[in-house]
Amino acid sequence: MKEFKQVRENLLDMLEDIDQGLSKITDDSTVTDKVVTKDLQDLSIKQDNQDSIVSDIDNIKRALSQIDSGTYGLCLNCGQTIKKEHLNSDPLSNYCIHCAENGDLIT
Ligand SMILES: [Zn+2]
Repeated sequence: MKEFKQVRENLLDMLEDIDQGLSKITDDSTVTDKVVTKDLQDLSIKQDNQDSIVSDIDNIKRALSQIDSGTYGLCLNCGQTIKKEHLNSDPLSNYCIHCAENGDLIT
């Protein structure tokens, strides 16, 4: 799907960032004595978010497979095409701007 080339790249970048973030958590978990406060805060935030990181990975992989199968970019609420600019800024968006703004979503 040439159409979503940019979105695809964004998604792959996001996956890469998450991968790096996860390996950083693993690396940092052994650091106890020379912990910099900022790193510690950063680390605890990341650990709190590990569940959401895992679901982000699922979402990214789902979006990538949707791009491949040609079902990507449709609003889950109304079925309309989500604007490409919206997808470029938020590749994991499942809803069109209209539905997202109304907050009237089927979840
Ligand atoms: Zn919609």
